[in-house]
Amino acid sequence: MKKCTYCNKTFDDSVTYCPECGSKLEDDVQFTSNTQTNDSYAYYDQSAMQQNMNANAEAKKEDAGSWGFGILSFLFPIVGFILFFVWRKEFPKKAKSCGIPALVSFLINIVSSVICMVFYYSLLVGQMQ
Ligand SMILES: [Zn+2]
Repeated sequence: MKKCTYCNKTFDDSVTYCPECGSKLEDDVQFTSNTQTNDSYAYYDQSAMQQNMNANAEAKKEDAGSWGFGILSFLFPIVGFILFFVWRKEFPKKAKSCGIPALVSFLINIVSSVICMVFYYSLLVGQMQ
């Protein structure tokens, strides 16, 4: 996520300039803590974030999107979701390359099972008449 320091709004990573005021957007490192509304988690989040930032600096080279994991996640969405949640903070790119195919695959599964249900239902109705 990126954040406009002027408007205090967050935008997608693909956005470089704020659509509202036109100023350059900066990476919003605090975004994950903003999603936590509970105050008691705020302190924990900040210290965890600091650790993650250190980990990020060390693991920066290792974090890259992976086709292998993407295909694996597409074939086994549950594996993809697990990897996504495990890697979400330390390897955001790697997590994304698992999370997106898993989500797409999951949605395709839902849509195709709904289509099957509608199909069988229409067969059933057709037989009753
Ligand atoms: Zn702005």
